[in-house]
Amino acid sequence: MKSLGNIRRSFAPWTDPSAKPYISFKNVTKKFGDFTAVDDLSLNIYNREFFALLGASGCGKSTLLRMLAGFEQPTTGEIVLDGQNLAGTPPYRRPVNMMFQSYALFPHMSVEKNIAFGLRQDGMAKNEIADRVTQMLKLVKLEQFARRKPNQLSGGQRQRVALARSLAKRPKVLLLDEPLGALDKKLREETQFELMDLQQNLGLTFVVVTHDQEEAMTMADRIAVMSHGKVVQVATPAEIYEAPNCRFVADFIGDVNILDGNVISAQSGIVEISVDSGFTVRTASGGAPAEGSRASLAIRPEKLRVTPRPPANASLNAAEGEIWDIGYLGDMTVFHVKLKSGQVVKASSLNAVRVVEEPFTYDQNVWVSFDENAGVLLKD
Ligand code: ATP
Repeated sequence: MKSLGNIRRSFAPWTDPSAKPYISFKNVTKKFGDFTAVDDLSLNIYNREFFALLGASGCGKSTLLRMLAGFEQPTTGEIVLDGQNLAGTPPYRRPVNMMFQSYALFPHMSVEKNIAFGLRQDGMAKNEIADRVTQMLKLVKLEQFARRKPNQLSGGQRQRVALARSLAKRPKVLLLDEPLGALDKKLREETQFELMDLQQNLGLTFVVVTHDQEEAMTMADRIAVMSHGKVVQVATPAEIYEAPNCRFVADFIGDVNILDGNVISAQSGIVEISVDSGFTVRTASGGAPAEGSRASLAIRPEKLRVTPRPPANASLNAAEGEIWDIGYLGDMTVFHVKLKSGQVVKASSLNAVRVVEEPFTYDQNVWVSFDENAGVLLKD
C-alpha cells in the first residue's frame, strides 16, 4: 500500500492541460447591497482534490463556499460542478454537503440520531439507515458513543459527529467551514491527519475554509489565498511558501523579511539590487525588472544565517547588525537582528542539538547573510 504522502505527491491534475476541473467558479461576483463580498472570481478545483480557501476574516471565503452549497446565489457569473451549471439547483439537490463552523448538532438527539437525520429526511429505508449509521460511527471511531447526546461529548468528539453526519449522505464534495476551529492545538493537529486519511480513503473532493495557514499548508493539495473577494494566488503549499507571487501572499503565509531597493542590473535571471538597508543583494530567483526600478526581495527567516563574524564575501547578500531580540521556541530559536539601517530582520535556526545557552547574546554584533537563491523577487 502506498503512503498518503506518496499518493498526494503524485496527485497534480492542475498541471495537466487536458484534465477537466470538477468544480469551476467562472467570473463569480457576489454583492450584498453595495458591498462586493466576492469579486469577479474564477477558480478551478479538481476531483479528489483537498482544496483550501485561506484568507483573513471577511475576505469572502465562506460566501464562496455557501454559493457552492447553494445557500447563496451569485450576483453574476456561474458555478459549474461536474459539467453542470448549478444555477437554479437547490442545496438539497447538489452532490455537496457542508459541515458548519458551529457543527450545528441537534442537542436533544443522540449521536446516532444526529447522523441519521439527513438520511431519514430523504426517506431512506430503516435498515439501510441503521447500516449507514454503523458504518459512519466506525469511520469516525465513535462506536461506543452512539447513544450519547452532544453535550456528553468532548469538542473533538462533537466535531467527528458533525463530520459523520455530513458524510452520511455520501456527498461527492464536502465543504468544511473552519472544521477544526473549536479544537485545541494538539487535537487539531491529530484531526487534520484524520481528515486527510478520510478524504483519501473515501475518494472525495474536500473544500475547506480556514484562516489558519498551518492548517491549510498541512492538509491541502492546493491553497487559494484570498483577499477582498479575490483570489490572489492558487498553488500548492510549497509553491505558496517558496514562491509567493506578491507581497500580500509572502506576508500572509509564514514569517518573511522584505528587502526593498533599486535594481542595479538584471541579466540572465540574475538580479542585483541596492537595498534601502544599505547593502547589495544578488538574487537568482529570476525575473527581469528594469534597471533603476523599485524591487522587493522576500526572504524567509530560516534562510538567513547569523554569524558572529563577516562571511567570506561580505560585499554581497550580507549586512551587519546587532542582536535585538531572541525568541527561544524549543524546536527553534528566532533572532531579531537590527541592521545598521535600522531595519529589523528575523532569522531562525533549528535547535538540532540540545542547547542550554544560546550562541548569541543581546546587543551582540553579528552578520546576517544569505545565498543567491534564498529569496524570491516579488512582482508587486
Ligand atoms: P470569516 O473568516 O470571518 O468567516 P469570511 O472570509 O468567511 O470571514 P464571509 O463570511 O464570506 O467572510 O464574508 C465576506 C464579507 O461579506 C464580510 O464583510 C461580510 O460582512 C459580508 N457578508 C457576508 N454575508 C453577508 C450578508 N448576508 N449580508 C451582508 N453582508 C454579508
